[in-house]
Amino acid sequence: MSAFARVIRMFLVVAIGLLGSTGEVTGTERSSQEAIQVPADQPAVQRALEYLRDTEPETLENQVAICEIAAPPFHEAERAEEYQRRLAELGLEKVRIDAVGNAIGERPGVGDGPTVVLSAHLDTVFPPGTDVTVTREGEVLSGPGIGDDCRGLTVVLAVARAMQEVELETEGTVIFVGTVGEEGVGDLRGVKHLFGDELEGRVDYFISIDGTGLGVTHRAVGSHRYEVTYKGPGGHSYGAFGMPNPIHALGRAIGKIADFQVPRQPRVTFSVGLVEGGTSVNSIAYETTMTVDMRSESVEELGEIDSQFREAVQAALDEENSRWESDVQLEVEIVSIGVRPAGQTPADSTMVQAAVEAAGFLGVEARLGGGSTDSNIPISMGIPAITIGGGGRGRGGHSLHESFDAIDSHLGTQRAFLLTSALAGVR
Ligand SMILES: [Zn+2]
Repeated sequence: MSAFARVIRMFLVVAIGLLGSTGEVTGTERSSQEAIQVPADQPAVQRALEYLRDTEPETLENQVAICEIAAPPFHEAERAEEYQRRLAELGLEKVRIDAVGNAIGERPGVGDGPTVVLSAHLDTVFPPGTDVTVTREGEVLSGPGIGDDCRGLTVVLAVARAMQEVELETEGTVIFVGTVGEEGVGDLRGVKHLFGDELEGRVDYFISIDGTGLGVTHRAVGSHRYEVTYKGPGGHSYGAFGMPNPIHALGRAIGKIADFQVPRQPRVTFSVGLVEGGTSVNSIAYETTMTVDMRSESVEELGEIDSQFREAVQAALDEENSRWESDVQLEVEIVSIGVRPAGQTPADSTMVQAAVEAAGFLGVEARLGGGSTDSNIPISMGIPAITIGGGGRGRGGHSLHESFDAIDSHLGTQRAFLLTSALAGVR
């Protein structure tokens, strides 16, 4: 089969998939049928793929330039402004930075096909002051964030550039986004704002390009994170002996958590990550705190371990309070410091199948997996969403020695383009 015939076959398969989907994607049936009507002689897709292969050096240059603008958690503004400038330069419409700092540009569809968001995250895990200079040795780029997610950011721009270059007519609108707050402490605040406000009710498909490789993350690993604080008046360890001790209560809680029994399938994890408190060796502390992280791909299991955790924290308090015949009673405070909902876009769904098909056309295999990414939010709302790699090969993510090997990296750009166009529908 010629490459061109395979492009057409891919669009047909995707279109048939769209047609066949029931219930999951509402309101797109009409446009789905239109997606079938991709003219067999449509050369724009072919031209775009060639363009992306030929301009991969430019894509890599952009990757470096974006990455050399620091974007620590909660300090993405400078990179967001540059991203906004680049979106505008490509001739996109309604280019803006929204209320939480996401950079957004739209490419209107020519019909009323599905609206597709193609997104990558602006933030890094690195604190302010980190040296973000990128070095290059042959095909390998090195610098903090170069793969996660400067690769995603440059691929999003490349897809927009290719669509503009070949004047691709898509039925649905494609919205290009750089989100804030994807990493840990950011708690997905950028994507939460997109779906809760900025683009509320508009999005039919969400694609996040996060990191490297060609994997497809369709299962959302959810997490619940808490800060737990036991409090009391505190006192002298000898003079006030007989008073409940917040650190002892915390110890009881940790002992219970450490004994949690969890299934291996679906995977459930838990960890006390940080413990602090106390004043001195001869004092009963007045306050002590721990942070706890629990994760699972299963909504039910995540709910189950969450309630076990709450029971353990309360039981530890009760046990410490009743251990002593004291007028003093400790209190406990549980504060949520992060919620990432779990869920999945099914492996046999139209969207995942389209991603697999797009990779297959390029002669590569798309491995399906799970992870915790911007897609968690739309997935938890029942909106089809996946996170894909931006191509190339990454090493040392979240470390200062992160590197990106650009070998065959154009495949990542091409796959993102194929998937985005297929979902939006090509006229
Ligand atoms: Zn990332």
